[in-house]
Amino acid sequence: MNRKYRRPLIAGNWKMNLTPSETKVFMSRFRELLPKGRNNDVAICVPAVCIPAAVHAMRESRVSIGAENCNANPAGAYTGEISASMLLDAGCKYVILGHSERRAMGETDQEIHQKLLTVLDAGMTPILCCGESLEQREVGVTEEWISMQLKYALQGLDPRDVRRLVIAYEPIWAIGTGKTATPAQAQEVCAQIRLLIRKLFDARTARAAVILYGGSMNEKNAAELLSQPDVDGGLIGGASLIPEKLAKIVETANELE
Ligand code: PEP
Repeated sequence: MNRKYRRPLIAGNWKMNLTPSETKVFMSRFRELLPKGRNNDVAICVPAVCIPAAVHAMRESRVSIGAENCNANPAGAYTGEISASMLLDAGCKYVILGHSERRAMGETDQEIHQKLLTVLDAGMTPILCCGESLEQREVGVTEEWISMQLKYALQGLDPRDVRRLVIAYEPIWAIGTGKTATPAQAQEVCAQIRLLIRKLFDARTARAAVILYGGSMNEKNAAELLSQPDVDGGLIGGASLIPEKLAKIVETANELE
C-alpha cells in the first residue's frame, strides 16, 4: 500500500452466494463488527437481487455496495440482463468487470471494454479483473497475458477515466483454491500493471491507479499481501461471505501504514 498516493480498497465478491434474507443478516452483523478507522474504502459486491437489501442495510455507513456484472447496452431487448443505469439507481457504486469466472462463461475482452465504458459513463467505479491461468504462469507469459487483457479493456480511454477505476489482479489458479499467490508474486504483477499504466497513459495515472490482489485472500494472509507497495487492497471471494473474516481484513488494512 502507498497511502500517500492511493486510498486502499477492500472489496468483497459474493459471486452466486447468499439470498436477500441472508444479506440482511450478514450486513447487520458486519455493521456491528466494522472497525471504526476509516483509512480505506470498503465495498461488497453482491448478486443483483441482493443489492436493494445490501444498500438499505448499509445506508449511512462507510460500506459501498457493488454489482458483479452489468450489460454494456443502455437499455433494450436483452432479456435477463441489467444495465449500468439500473445498478446506479439501485444504489451501486462499484461494478466488477471481467472476472475470470465470467470470462470462462465466454465474456470477451471487447465486451469487457464496452462494459467498462458503460460503467464509467454511469459514474460508477469499475473493478476491472485480469489474471493468468496456471498454465500461462508456468509457460512464462503472465506479463504478456495481463498486458493484453488490460490493453483491450483500456483502449482509447482518457487518463482521467483510468484514474477513476480499480484494477484487480486475480491469478486464476489462486481463486477459490486456497492457493494464495506469495506476497512477492502479487507484488511483482501489481508493479508490472502499474508500469503498463505508466506506459499506456502517464506517471500521474500510474501513481493514482488502485490495484488490488485477489485470490484466496483471508484474515490470516491479508497483512502480508497488503503490505506490498503496489498492492492497494484486496478483492475477496470466499472470506467475504463470513462477516468476522471480512471485518478482520478491513481492520488489518486499516492498521497498515
Ligand atoms: C474472487 O472471486 O474474486 C476471489 C478472489 O475469490 P477467493 O477469494 O475465494 O479466491
